[in-house]
Amino acid sequence: MITFAARLLRWFDAHGRHDLPWQHPRSAYRVWVSEIMLQQTQVATVIGYFDRFIAAFPDLHTLAAAPLDAVLAHWAGLGYYSRARNLHRAAQLCMQNHAGDLPRNMDGLCALPGIGRSTAAAILSQAYALRVAILDGNVKRVLARHAGIAGYPGQPAIERRLWQEAEQRLPDDDASSMPDYTQALMDLGASVCARRKPHCDACPVRVDCIAFNQGRTDELPTRKPRRTLPEKSVRMLIATDPEGRVLLQRRAPLGIWGGLWSLPELSAMTAFDPATTVIADVDTVKPAGLEISALRALPALQHRFTHFLLHIHAYRADAIVAGKRAAETDGHAWVALPDLHRHGIPTPIKTLIDTHLRLSR
Ligand code: SF4
Repeated sequence: MITFAARLLRWFDAHGRHDLPWQHPRSAYRVWVSEIMLQQTQVATVIGYFDRFIAAFPDLHTLAAAPLDAVLAHWAGLGYYSRARNLHRAAQLCMQNHAGDLPRNMDGLCALPGIGRSTAAAILSQAYALRVAILDGNVKRVLARHAGIAGYPGQPAIERRLWQEAEQRLPDDDASSMPDYTQALMDLGASVCARRKPHCDACPVRVDCIAFNQGRTDELPTRKPRRTLPEKSVRMLIATDPEGRVLLQRRAPLGIWGGLWSLPELSAMTAFDPATTVIADVDTVKPAGLEISALRALPALQHRFTHFLLHIHAYRADAIVAGKRAAETDGHAWVALPDLHRHGIPTPIKTLIDTHLRLSR
């Protein structure tokens, strides 16, 4: 039987994706940006973001020199913002330590923030045709099925076995096929070997696929053991000044939405009278020096993170007492609605502002 790699490459010629923007040209920088974007996001969504990101930051030098805010603004809506912060930081480290280029080896790439073994391999195999294996989520699924490996792939022992399987399937002779082989494996996982109802009839490697031959495609890969998602609540303030500008607060660099602009949070300890409320003494809002005449509770909004469910209880400040405009200090800013796109704002916060300010105007 011809090898797994040869069958996959032949399938790729006819059915693979050859027109992705990061394939033309397939430079290390462009592959890197695409790989980071693709870590948690579908190709169809990434394409638009990728084109806009590359138009703004066409090379590593431009990215390293850009303000973090500009990078986060181009990431807004993609989620998992630590990816953008790591990309920016890694570009700066490349300028300092690698003569303005991405390292061309596993160790050098893996030492950069946000780059793990699979991402490094995707860069090296696609940009430089090095013979190294990838193992992203889709590839784990393909290999767990093809090799018939039971057990949750997030467990270290299972993951080690999957890496071995990935390495055993690499093209054994011609390294020049590595860029296409890597893309072919990603494409197979994304299109044919789908999470639910894989299209095994159209699969080039079904002859020796254990899951297919044993009727186990539903049970492989083994699902993550279930656990209840913890829940958290937060209270946020939608305050506008007499000119209709909304008050934003920059979040701390680490933690959820780190470094992004959000609505000011009301401390869980804050007691306030909904009728006549002065919140100038609330620690989290105090730097803005706000005084507010009335607060109105808005319908709660839920946002699901990977590790918890967040309930956002928003309060609309109807009026700010004249002469007490918040100073733009301590990471606060009054922003006119048409200028919001210049700020990196998490999607649920943008939804809140759109719903209660923009759309109600
Ligand atoms: Fe996936 Fe089916 Fe192909 Fe096996 S035969 S690798 S289960 S698509």
